Amino acid sequence: MKNCTAALAIGVGVVAALFEPSLIAQRGGNAPAGPPVSVTVNGRTWTQQQLFQRNIGGADDQSTQFPPHKIVGNLYYVGTNSLAAFLVVTPQGNILINSTYERNVPVIQKSIEQLGFKLSDTKILLGSHAHGDHQEGDALVKQLTGAQVMAMAEDVPALENMKPAGKPHPIDRVLHDGDTVTLGGATLVAHLTAGHTRGCTTWTMKIQEGSRSYDVVIIGSLGVNPGFQLVNNKDVPQIAEEYARAFKVSRALPCDIPLGSHPGMYNMAEKYAKLGKGPNPYVDPAGYKAELDIDEAMYHAVLDAQTKAAK
Ligand SMILES: [Zn+2]
Repeated sequence: MKNCTAALAIGVGVVAALFEPSLIAQRGGNAPAGPPVSVTVNGRTWTQQQLFQRNIGGADDQSTQFPPHKIVGNLYYVGTNSLAAFLVVTPQGNILINSTYERNVPVIQKSIEQLGFKLSDTKILLGSHAHGDHQEGDALVKQLTGAQVMAMAEDVPALENMKPAGKPHPIDRVLHDGDTVTLGGATLVAHLTAGHTRGCTTWTMKIQEGSRSYDVVIIGSLGVNPGFQLVNNKDVPQIAEEYARAFKVSRALPCDIPLGSHPGMYNMAEKYAKLGKGPNPYVDPAGYKAELDIDEAMYHAVLDAQTKAAK
């Protein structure tokens, strides 16, 4: 438990940075110590580390462009192999969700251009949660586009600590649970699904395609990263309750098309391979439930293990 004790001794911003995925990856994928935990869901067994690794991918996956593509209607994928970025295209400009790492902004720009759009048309920039792999590039995107950057209130302190090369993190509008973001006929709803970060945000929207309307859910993250302290967390004593609430909120959301801040959360590579060969593979309500089942089982397993270890 020594790493956990060390984590408790420092401030919450530093704890967030400590468990920021790239830093763990830089340690050769070895997470800080914690009780070993694994879960079996739908016939597949995951250790905590494997689930984390599924999300962040290999060293190159975080910055390698994934083929940009249309998901449904006016919603497009413009991220890398393991860091999701989404573009909502409207007649009044576009909404970008997740700038990812600053070094990936040119990759995202290239993807947007390959789809026939322009980064400079980005009017609003949103994010999944205040970790560098999802929002480090916000200042650069703001600089390049002038987009309004909007963030959940509970993530603002962590975002303000995210300053690549000293650039202050832009925040033009502070959001609260249930707030809506609208542009050119598109409406996104911000759902506070805290735990992974204090302001972790699950975005939902309805997307029209043909005669059908689809409920889209972009999971902010429900993952408990290796080493993350659910028990005796002095900075956020109610952290386990926040996670529990996030699962409850997530389960109540109608979902036809599950997406997430990491493509592994919705098996993007597998679905992308099936695009255009039948019904839209991204329509997968069962996949949404399966992902919640995995994440919630892991949360309970980690909580149980940490509770026992703390006794
Ligand atoms: Zn994260």
